[in-house]
Amino acid sequence: MGINSSNKIWIDGELVASDEARISVFDHAVLYGDGCFEGIRAYNGRVFKLKSHLDRMYVSAEKIRLTPSYSKDEIEQAIRGALDANGLSDAYIRLVFTRGVGTLGLHPFQCPKPTAFVITDTIELYPPELYESGMAVIVAKRRRVPIESLDPAIKSLNYLNNILAKIEAIDADVLEAIMLNVDGQVSECTGDNIFIVRDGRLITPSASAGILHGVTRRYVMEELGPALGHAVEERPVQLDEILGADEVFLTGTAAEIIGVIKIDGREIGSGVVGPVTRGLEAEFRKRVSSNAPED
Ligand code: PMP
Repeated sequence: MGINSSNKIWIDGELVASDEARISVFDHAVLYGDGCFEGIRAYNGRVFKLKSHLDRMYVSAEKIRLTPSYSKDEIEQAIRGALDANGLSDAYIRLVFTRGVGTLGLHPFQCPKPTAFVITDTIELYPPELYESGMAVIVAKRRRVPIESLDPAIKSLNYLNNILAKIEAIDADVLEAIMLNVDGQVSECTGDNIFIVRDGRLITPSASAGILHGVTRRYVMEELGPALGHAVEERPVQLDEILGADEVFLTGTAAEIIGVIKIDGREIGSGVVGPVTRGLEAEFRKRVSSNAPED
């Protein structure tokens, strides 16, 4: 993600220069990773699936018992205002709620006021050539944190579980890692959801595997996949199935749709990005760059 120092950041109702946007060292987001966030995209001046992202953000906040200082409408205005102020029509948007300033103890309710901020910038998560060639990934040794401990459906500021798996990927010279849950089933990647293709069907781990309920995942399941005639299955997925799939691809707001061609050095399918993944990518690109109204 490029950091553009001339961009304005919306923070608690004000637009300030990015090098002047600050939160306190006593904010529990810094002290304990206490808060939640969203990653959202705008294409062609339209914010993609903003309602779904705002809904998920407020569910995350509720699940960590953080009461935001702003309504969804106010946050929507903040996002649109920040995009306008920075003249961005294609952008990555980071929305964050922090627990706010408190004491050095854990007590979240001794932090009287949460902070909200919105960063709008451009993003290139993976190099463009990887979308052509497909990417290699590994299977992380580290397991995804179980639902019972910290539900991955909460998009919290506690990303160390993902970061430690990402470090395993970087150490193996790849950019993403598949994470298994503590029962050994496939859950998701460090920052993306995962799909396999088998005989034209799209299969993705169910929510009960312990995953972030990805907005792009749902878009593929409910809109893109059916539009292209693919049946969709949401169910438990074993690692063997992934290794034996015709195609594997990842979805995420930042990653969009990207093909996987190697897992732990083993080729998937024919070893190139397959036709189903390419079809979904093309349909995704066509739809997000159209002038259809936001939904
Ligand atoms: N899983 C994790 C752990 C993520 O961080 C993300 C990115 N937000 C995703 C999946 C993909 O979700 P979405 O399509 O909503 O960006």
